[in-house]
Amino acid sequence: MKHFPIFLAVEGRRIVVAGGGEAALAKLRLLLKTEGRITVFAKDPAAEIEAWDRDGKLRLVRRDLEPGDATCAALFYAAADDDAEDARTARLARADGALVNMVDNLEGSAFITPAIVDRDPVTVAIGTEGTAPVLARRIKAFVEERLSPALGTLARVAGPFRPRAEALSPGRPRRSFWSDYYDTVGPRALAAEGEEALPAALSDLLEAHLAEEQTPGRVDFVGAGPGDPELLTLKARKALDAADVVIYDRLISPEILELARREALLLNAGKEGFGPSMKQSDINALIVEHASQGAHVVRLKSGDATVFGRLDEEIDAVTEAGVAYTIVPGITAASAAAAGIGQSLTKRDRNSSVRFLTGHDMKGFAEHDWAALARPGEVAAIYMGKKTARFIQGRLMMHGATPDTPITVIENASRADQRVLETTLATLEPDLSDAALSGPALMLYGLAPRAAEAALTSLPLQEIAQ
Ligand code: SAH
Repeated sequence: MKHFPIFLAVEGRRIVVAGGGEAALAKLRLLLKTEGRITVFAKDPAAEIEAWDRDGKLRLVRRDLEPGDATCAALFYAAADDDAEDARTARLARADGALVNMVDNLEGSAFITPAIVDRDPVTVAIGTEGTAPVLARRIKAFVEERLSPALGTLARVAGPFRPRAEALSPGRPRRSFWSDYYDTVGPRALAAEGEEALPAALSDLLEAHLAEEQTPGRVDFVGAGPGDPELLTLKARKALDAADVVIYDRLISPEILELARREALLLNAGKEGFGPSMKQSDINALIVEHASQGAHVVRLKSGDATVFGRLDEEIDAVTEAGVAYTIVPGITAASAAAAGIGQSLTKRDRNSSVRFLTGHDMKGFAEHDWAALARPGEVAAIYMGKKTARFIQGRLMMHGATPDTPITVIENASRADQRVLETTLATLEPDLSDAALSGPALMLYGLAPRAAEAALTSLPLQEIAQ
C-alpha cells in the first residue's frame, strides 16, 4: 500500500484550490460536501465557481496564486488544467506547508482523492493508487447500488442514540438491535413518516429489545428432514425464521441453512462419522452457552431429531441448565428412502413391524436381534450402515436369512443427486463407503424398488433409474 487511507478532519480548516476550469470544478464538487473553508484562486473562473462564491459556499480570489496564499491550508489542489501552472502553484503551496495534490499527477501529489460513495456520515472511499480509475468507478457503482440512499439519514439519527443502546448487553443483543434498526425498522419508519419519526422508532425498538433480553433463552430441537428443503415442516421453517442461533449438523444441506433468519448466527457442529469431529460434550456445551445467554437456539438435526441423533444427551444438558426446550419432528431418512423407491415400509401380510437399525454404535458394529430379522418378509431401515455392510450380511446369513432377500441402498434420499442401488443380501457389496457412495446412504433391508420388484433375482449391485 503506497497510499494509506485516512479520514481527515477538515471542519473549519482551509482548503485551497488553484484553478478555475474543469479540473477545479471536479474537485470543488467533492470539496463542497465537506465542512472545510474553501478558497479558490483563479483569474478567469467558471460561472459555477462565481455562483458558489456569491452563495457564500467558498471564497473566490480573482488572481493567480502567490506566495503565502496557501498558508495554514490543510489541503491544496493544483487544478489549473495547465501542467506548468500546476507545477508553479504546487511549489508555492509546498513552501507554505500544505499537503499538495496535483491533478492528474501522481508523482507530484502528496495525497490522492479517492472515488467516494457518500452516505454522510457514512462514507466509502475507493482508491486504486491511480492504477485503475475504471475499476474504481465500477466498484463505486457496485457499492452505490447496495447502500440505500437512506443509510446516511439512518446513521446520522442513530449516532446520538448510541449511549442509550448501551442499556443492552454488549455482543449479540446490541448487534441484533442495530441490525433490526438498519435492516427493517429504520427504513420502514423513514419511508412511512420521514426522518422525524426515527427517534421514536429507535426508542420503541430499544424497549422491545430490552424486554426480549429479559426473556430466557430456549432450545428447539428441529428435524430438518433428509435434505430437500421442501420436506421441512412448517414448524421447522418458523423456528428457523425466529432463531438467534442455529447449531447444525454435517448432513444439513446449504439450501436449508439459507432459510435461517438473516441475522441468525450459524454454527457448524458437524460430527464426521469417521473424521475429525466436534465432541458431543462440546456440542451440548455450545447449545447451553447460547441458550443461557437468552438466545433462541435452533438445534438443527438431519431427518428426525429423535432418530439416531443423540438427542437425549442434548436434552439432558439443556434440562440440567434449566433451559426450556421443544422438539419439532422431521421426516426421517427411512421415510424419504422408502418414498424414493415407491415402496411402503410396512405391508399387510408381509411385515407388520419395521425396524430402524444403526450399523455402528459407540462400541463399533452394532448387534441386533438377527434371528428375528432373518425371517422372511422382515423390513429394516439401516442407518449409518455404509462401513458395516459385510458385518450385517454375515450376521444375517448366519441366522438363516434367504440370500436373495432384496436390499436397496438409497444415497442422498430426497436430494437432487439421489441414487438408488439395488442388490440382495448375497450380493451386497462388502464396503459401500468408497468414493462410489460419498453421500449419506440408507439401506432398506427386505425392500426392492417397486419398479424392479417383479424382475428380482440375484442381481449384482447396480444402479437403476433414479
Ligand atoms: N436423524 C437422522 C439420522 C441421523 S444418522 C434421520 O432421522 O434421518 C445419519 C444417517 O442417516 C446417515 O449415515 C444415513 O444413513 C442416514 N441419512 C440421513 N440423511 C440421509 C439421506 N438424505 N439419504 C440417505 N440416508 C440418509
